[in-house]
Amino acid sequence: MRVLIYSDVHGNAEALAAMAEAAEGSYDTSLCLGDVVGYGASPNQTTQWVREHTKVVIRGNHDRACASLDGIQWFNPAAAAAARWTHAQLQPDNSAWLQGLPAGPLAWEGEYLVHGSPLDEDEYLMEAVQAAGSFAATSATCVWFGHTHVQGGFALLQSGGESRLEALRSAAEPPAPEARAGVRRFQLEPGARYLINPGSVGQPRDGDWRAGYALLHTGEGWVEFHRVPYDLEIAQRRILEAGLPPRLAQRLAAGK
Ligand code: ZN
Repeated sequence: MRVLIYSDVHGNAEALAAMAEAAEGSYDTSLCLGDVVGYGASPNQTTQWVREHTKVVIRGNHDRACASLDGIQWFNPAAAAAARWTHAQLQPDNSAWLQGLPAGPLAWEGEYLVHGSPLDEDEYLMEAVQAAGSFAATSATCVWFGHTHVQGGFALLQSGGESRLEALRSAAEPPAPEARAGVRRFQLEPGARYLINPGSVGQPRDGDWRAGYALLHTGEGWVEFHRVPYDLEIAQRRILEAGLPPRLAQRLAAGK
């Protein structure tokens, strides 16, 4: 089975459309790791698409905050302003759907889905020490996480009775040609365990502005990281026209 796994769309309809077009025909089912809305100017469009096209969705901290304003006190000023704007924009049925999303962790067909980490949906899983904590917190072979907006993750490899933690390389990282082509494939090793972040569709923060997502082939045991360009200028213009903080438009171009 081929599975599209994506996260952190953040109301960016242009990036979502680019992913949908690029991935079309290459997956049998799809999973979303949360943050469908927040930051971007198209919360209803992105929610509608995710509702119609995604098999399993867990909530992110921005879905929770935008639908109910719960947790907004922990947001920085730009994120809080965007959450209030999104809260006012969301159609009642989309808001109700976001509010009804299950929090992770959620087990699905052998995959383990979380927004932040297995320990906390608000934890940023960035460093090896946090990865070690997450591996210790679950026995799952493959944990899929979002929240950091950084494509990649960690592998816990076994050899000669020893385990070794290794960072996974994304499709955003040089050397070329993989980074330029926007796709990098790796094989899941038997006995190894993984924490994998498919990247952010709508607001990447790993220095590559292109929309990020992942494909998993459960039968053949490989994962592909993908990056695809989208209509950045339209997404930026719509953020500015909505009166959202200009920084939210600027950061899209920097991928930060
Ligand atoms: Zn996010």
